Amino acid sequence: MALIAVNDLSVGYGSQIVAENINFKVEAGDYLCIVGENGSGKSTLMKTLLNLQKPVKGEIIKGDGLKENEIGYLPQHTDVQKDFPASVKEIVLSGCLGRSGFKPFYTSADKKLAFENMERMGITELSGRSYRELSGGQQQRVLLARALCATRKLLLLDEPVSGLDPKVTAEMYSLIAELNKEGVSIIMISHDIGAAVGYADHILHIGGNVFFGTREEYLGSKLGRFFLMRQSRDDESMPLFKPRKKNPYSIMMSEDSGTAETEAGNASEETAAETESEKASENGVNAEQDADNGNEKKEVKDNDR
Ligand code: ADP
Repeated sequence: MALIAVNDLSVGYGSQIVAENINFKVEAGDYLCIVGENGSGKSTLMKTLLNLQKPVKGEIIKGDGLKENEIGYLPQHTDVQKDFPASVKEIVLSGCLGRSGFKPFYTSADKKLAFENMERMGITELSGRSYRELSGGQQQRVLLARALCATRKLLLLDEPVSGLDPKVTAEMYSLIAELNKEGVSIIMISHDIGAAVGYADHILHIGGNVFFGTREEYLGSKLGRFFLMRQSRDDESMPLFKPRKKNPYSIMMSEDSGTAETEAGNASEETAAETESEKASENGVNAEQDADNGNEKKEVKDNDR
């Protein structure tokens, strides 16, 4: 049974729906990226998965022995969090609070776990420092260590690299990938579609069109190609995702490519997907709308894993 199975879910506030027709599954060991336009409801979906928000419609089934307190959460970095006055050690330890009911003290097992996770995240030497004095990357490592104190089963990460510079971003992504290799299941919201298809094995795209499937299926779908191409056009720092003419996603889809950075050499080539999306706009056809007609739409129903 899947860790999480989501059936015909609509999420929103009160009766106001912000995203609907959401169907997907997360199996143990999966790495799922949730992508979509700004405001499409990604954070709302994550809060709904965490029970912080009630579903407007549909169901979320937690299975495979997953308990409510076995989901680690790394929320979006807010200015309020950045100024949090506690020490690194206190913050990491606070991740242990929900493990065996809320008790007014930490056990020696909690302290050992906090220490191990600080070691794992390479922040042991920062343990006595105030969180607010740390760099953005160090702060995210602290929050990851805290989330790992809550669980090693499933981490929900809401834009974990937001505001980080490219080098620290790459470090954070590789840390998350290592955790996933160690067996931690990941659900990550990302506005960075390049990283999403570079690291995740499954993609959930929400908004007007909903897609759920493997990374390869997403890259082969019109919705995925359109979104990827548009982002790489909008974002100068993403030329690496311009695919090859003959077989647009050959490198990105190859298992041993690791990250999608291997696409860098193809930056200047005109591409099949580019031509396709250009053709689509010339004809007045919106690739997303086309996908909406069901041609390329892949929801969990017809893609049950
Ligand atoms: P995303 O994470 O994809 O950028 P969000 O889930 O943050 O999108 O927001 C989806 C929509 O829900 C937005 O239109 C946003 O304004 C609205 N929204 C977010 N939080 C609330 C809230 N607490 N109450 C009502 N509407 C909200």
